[in-house]
Amino acid sequence: MARPLIVTADRCVACRACELACAVAHSQSRNLIDSVLAEEKLGARLHVATRKGKTAPIVCVHCKKAACMSVCPVDAFERESPEAPVLPIPEKCIGCGKCVEACPFGAITMNGDGSGILKCDVCVQRLAEGADAPACVSACPTKALSFGGIGGKSAAATADDSAA
Ligand code: SF4
Ligand code: SF4
Repeated sequence: MARPLIVTADRCVACRACELACAVAHSQSRNLIDSVLAEEKLGARLHVATRKGKTAPIVCVHCKKAACMSVCPVDAFERESPEAPVLPIPEKCIGCGKCVEACPFGAITMNGDGSGILKCDVCVQRLAEGADAPACVSACPTKALSFGGIGGKSAAATADDSAA
């Protein structure tokens, strides 16, 4: 199964457009100007980091055996199948940070005030509304991020489902 988000690290130029696009896509208004004017606290579900001399986005890979789901004491994650994305349930989260520690990729972070987490949801709402890719993928100017599809389906099949 292709990972939902595929990183080609050699193409990343560290512009961080992916972070901004993710944060805006998950804001109340989903509009940069409006969210800034509303003084909304924006948070990206992926982050650009330098590891071993290479800068690239760190993204959730939606592991089949997801450590975050296993350690969460309040079942604040859900997924439809082992192939489906691991989706956070913010209303349930108590901000204990166990999933942040457990993620082997460092792909989950605490939010600004420590009350919850920031974790990739593959922009499932955006895809359901007809977008052909998550916001970070669409924003990346160098195609360092690409979309592999979700739920065991190819990106093309996912887009067809969204359009139906
Ligand atoms: S921070 Fe939230 S989602 Fe993560 S393990 Fe704790 S309760 Fe679960
Ligand atoms: S938008 Fe693309 S090139 Fe820019 S930091 Fe993100 S992955 Fe790298």
